[in-house]
Amino acid sequence: MRILIVEDEKALANNLKRGLSEEGYSADVAYDGEEGGFMAETEPYDLIILDIMLPKVDGFTLLKNIRKQGIKAPVLMLTAKDAISDKIKGLDTGADDYIIKPFDFDELLARVRALLRRKGEVKSAVIGIGDLEIDTAGHQVKRGGKDINLSAREYALLEYLAYNKDKVVTRIDISEHIYDYDFDLDSNIIDVYINFLRNKIDKGFEKKLIHTVRGAGYILKE
Ligand code: CA
Repeated sequence: MRILIVEDEKALANNLKRGLSEEGYSADVAYDGEEGGFMAETEPYDLIILDIMLPKVDGFTLLKNIRKQGIKAPVLMLTAKDAISDKIKGLDTGADDYIIKPFDFDELLARVRALLRRKGEVKSAVIGIGDLEIDTAGHQVKRGGKDINLSAREYALLEYLAYNKDKVVTRIDISEHIYDYDFDLDSNIIDVYINFLRNKIDKGFEKKLIHTVRGAGYILKE
């Protein structure tokens, strides 16, 4: 899942990016509202974390603009303490949730997960495909009741496939949602990671869950 952070406080923005990356998300940062608006309109983000007071274009204007452009990515607004009017204005402008600064990172993560679930129409924190279970809150994966250890990148790829289960995802979809701005689309890294995942998820099981759709991409299904 790919997240855009629009925040002009560099230390906070960079900490968020690092924390989200450690959780297996890919995250890009924009330090002002103009750059943030441009990135939101050109890249298919799964979620946007948006500050209100921003240089060049403020968060409310950015949000209004991207909603007008038809961008439906869930938006989590960062609001100042006690600014109730900001919360109301944010929600009325098309934000999906807000969190008050300073916030606890674990709370932000829980809100991020809830918004991503809502977007993916996945209601529970645990996604099941056959005997495969993906706990998106704890980042734990089990198949046939047995724990499977995945690296952060492998987990991110599996989670993306799981949020889109029973649908074909292309290599471009994967590269746009799993990797950040600097990712080189020519590299064969996606196939490499699919193979890593197959070795951990499907190897030794009669029923394969990760399928290649020739000329199209991959699908996770029973
Ligand atoms: Ca700010």
